Amino acid sequence: MNDSAKTDYRAKYEQLLDEFSSLETSEQLQQSLLRSLLNRVLFAVDKAYPTLAKESQALRDLMRQIGDGPLPVARIQPGIEHLAEAIRAIEAGDPTPDREEALSNDEAAERVDVRDFLPLLLERVAFTESMEGRREKLLAILNNPKDKTLNSILIDRAATLINDMRRALENEKNELTEFLRQLTEALSEIDQHTLANLGDIETQRKVQEALGNAVTEQVSHIDRTVSDATDLDELKRVVRQRVARISEQIDTFRKMEDKRLAAVELENNQMRERIAKLEASRVVLHEQLVASTQKMLRDTLTGLPNRLAFDERVALEAARMQREKTPLCLALWDVDYFKRVNDTFGHQAGDKALHVVGKTLSQLIRDVDMVARYGGEEFVMVLPKADLQQAFVVLERIREKLAGTAFRFKDTPLKITLSCGVAEFGAGETIESVMARADEALYRAKSNGRNRTEMSHSKR
Ligand code: GH3
Ligand code: MG
Ligand code: MG
Repeated sequence: MNDSAKTDYRAKYEQLLDEFSSLETSEQLQQSLLRSLLNRVLFAVDKAYPTLAKESQALRDLMRQIGDGPLPVARIQPGIEHLAEAIRAIEAGDPTPDREEALSNDEAAERVDVRDFLPLLLERVAFTESMEGRREKLLAILNNPKDKTLNSILIDRAATLINDMRRALENEKNELTEFLRQLTEALSEIDQHTLANLGDIETQRKVQEALGNAVTEQVSHIDRTVSDATDLDELKRVVRQRVARISEQIDTFRKMEDKRLAAVELENNQMRERIAKLEASRVVLHEQLVASTQKMLRDTLTGLPNRLAFDERVALEAARMQREKTPLCLALWDVDYFKRVNDTFGHQAGDKALHVVGKTLSQLIRDVDMVARYGGEEFVMVLPKADLQQAFVVLERIREKLAGTAFRFKDTPLKITLSCGVAEFGAGETIESVMARADEALYRAKSNGRNRTEMSHSKR
């Protein structure tokens, strides 16, 4: 048993003694409680003061004599007081002859004096520099043979010193923990800053993983250092070294990433250029397509829509007619005696004449109407929202205007007239059928003397 345990028992003993004396005055004193209390006290005394075995045994014998009946306080009080006196004497450092007698030679060898033991203890505890002064002071007292300080006080001082040392270490540990927390924060900031600038997600993930592993490795190294080290300065030095290593690694990653990003950027720029070129050629192609479509739908001689454009327009207007239940007419025109124009003035003059006729026709139609060159010296018209009679009126006005126009070729006046046949769509009638009826009407206009309009009345 060591001395601090002894101090412990002594404190317990004193406390129990207090309890006992307060219980003694109580009328409600419970015998069993007193018995067990006394047994505990004697047990404590045996442990703490082996030299008082005789005194405690005497009290035990007395209790056995009394038996299970009530414990007469007056009978046991002298024994208790004798025991207390002996303990006080031991504590006062007054070696009783009893004590010396009670020790066998082996026991004496085993028992180490507080003044021998405490220096050993103080040597074995690691002290920081700031605590070193206090240790030396206590050691000086312990080693001074003339010193009269009580053992209990010496033990107390040693315990206080060790406790203070422990508290100081605790503080260092806390300080270190805070240092590590700040470090981790700084690292994660670096981490995030680095990763925020990375390119595609897959590469970002890989780099993050590699960087994460490197940082984790370094941090776990720091952790190991923290648990092993006792010197905070040494610890900080190692940690700083590790942080520097992490920074290096992050730097390497960043350089690698910069390189990769530059390559990606170059690739992107090349791609962008290629896309721009493709877009440019797409625009050109689109324009060409529009132009060729226009060309495809236009007659080059007159500049009017051609037969293809007419077909498309008729299909559109026929659908609209069905949808909106509005009338729709088609008209065919043919230049009268055009052969003669060619024959008299030449083919070129004929072309020119066709050009003028086409232009005139397009100027005379209504906004909703359409005129196209159907082929040769024939033209065709679509007249939406006009029934046969209304169309007839419009066409006659055009025909008259044309007939009244004075064409000339090389100062020679030239009279050009056209004949016209018109037909209105019947219910469910096809375009071909209406065109055929308009053609019939045109034929009639020719037969009936030309420069006139004939209507085809639906058979139904
Ligand atoms: P009509 O129609 O009144 O019966 O008599 P026409 O002389 O017009 O008779 P027809 O329709 O048979 O002849 C049409 C002529 O138009 C034949 C052709 O030489 C001429 N022609 C057709 N297309 C063109 C063209 O693009 N340019 C020129 N210059 N002449 C054309
Ligand atoms: Mg003809
Ligand atoms: Mg003709």
